[in-house]
Amino acid sequence: EQLTETLDELARELDRAHVFHSWSAQSQASSLVVASGRGARVWDHSGREYLDFSSQLVNVNIGHQHPAVVQAIREQAELLTTIAPSTVNLARGEAAKRIVSHAPAGFHKVFFTNGGADANENAIRMARLHTGRDKILSTYRSYHGNTGAAVVATGDWRRVPNEFARGHVHFFGPYLYRSEFWATTPEEESERALRHLRRVIEAEGPSSIAAILLETIPGTAGIMLPPPGYLAGVRELADRHGILLILDEVMCGFGRSGRWFAFDGYGVRPDLITFAKGVNSGYVPAGGVIISDPIAATFDDRVFPGGLTYSGHPLAMASIVATLDTMASEGIVDNARDIGEIQIGPALAELAGKHAVIGEVRGEGVFWAMELVADRDTREPLPAASMGRLKSALVERGLLPFVQDNRIHVVPPCVVTPEEVADAVAIYDEVLSTALEGEG
Ligand code: PLP
Repeated sequence: EQLTETLDELARELDRAHVFHSWSAQSQASSLVVASGRGARVWDHSGREYLDFSSQLVNVNIGHQHPAVVQAIREQAELLTTIAPSTVNLARGEAAKRIVSHAPAGFHKVFFTNGGADANENAIRMARLHTGRDKILSTYRSYHGNTGAAVVATGDWRRVPNEFARGHVHFFGPYLYRSEFWATTPEEESERALRHLRRVIEAEGPSSIAAILLETIPGTAGIMLPPPGYLAGVRELADRHGILLILDEVMCGFGRSGRWFAFDGYGVRPDLITFAKGVNSGYVPAGGVIISDPIAATFDDRVFPGGLTYSGHPLAMASIVATLDTMASEGIVDNARDIGEIQIGPALAELAGKHAVIGEVRGEGVFWAMELVADRDTREPLPAASMGRLKSALVERGLLPFVQDNRIHVVPPCVVTPEEVADAVAIYDEVLSTALEGEG
């Protein structure tokens, strides 16, 4: 007991002394220790356990420490831990074949990266080289990663201090609850958001635009399911002007939405697909671009000017093969779809019926947001201090939440069980009842 508590303390001490954390003022970095996990649960060295309803950064779709994936990494490590991307490697070919098997017809090639940001970075580069055009259009409510072009394509606050790439233009996507277009129905929101995009394209000069880059379902920005006709309308606008459509499936892909790709639910076919996170649940860092045939053909006889030392890294490739095979054989994507429809959606709607602080619940699969408001009529966001209190109270009761702005994202692994969902909903319920007492 004493020894394990000491390990937690040692981990905190070393972290405070030597680790520089992402997106944080260093004095305010988290002190939560995680030593191990299994499925939808993680624990520290002393055995204090948490229900992981964040899937970390919404990436551990297959759950923690799935034995089939761990075993595949172990076996690959014994065979070959690393090799240059210029070589031919069986695990890499097997991984690419499985990835394209889930893509629409007309996609045969995968460019592997280390994660999601460099996937978008390279998709943007391919679009520019293929079209000979320059500008990339993306939405204000988006996150595309933290590298040169990806962070400037990003719309949210993280772009602003990092705005050093050129050729990026932003527009507003649909978001009915906080409509930029004074819309009151999903149809109206869709139509007006498309009109706005058409005007942005016309004003920027259609022949200067290489691609429109969109998260199929904006994730960190709030899990806004696209309204009817929106993505089809974007596709149509793009086609009319010879603009490519890049769909960022980094967060919403590989099971999160209850489908292999989120765009499978919207009858739209992109030109480039970017992925990372769920493809191997981050067991080894990996991401990539799935390339449609005409764009791949651009580089048949022309050099593609891009590469990474760890592109197609064997440990990542073996983990992708095992992850995708296991997700298929264990019906993990179906579980995400069913549990979202049958249990998570109805349970969150019931919470919204009980707690006036919940302004809207939206989502599908294991990809849900509860948007919290100080006032249901004005929809004024719940202030940051209250969100902080809710977050601490959830962690104290053993639930790791994903809290962003004024929202709690309910994003457990795709393998989450009905019992775990019931436990989590009881914790949300209790915390929403008690943690804000004495406010407002
Ligand atoms: N795109 C989306 C939609 C994301 O959610 C993220 C990460 O959260 C990224 C890209 C960047 O991925 P990475 O952090 O692996 O670079």
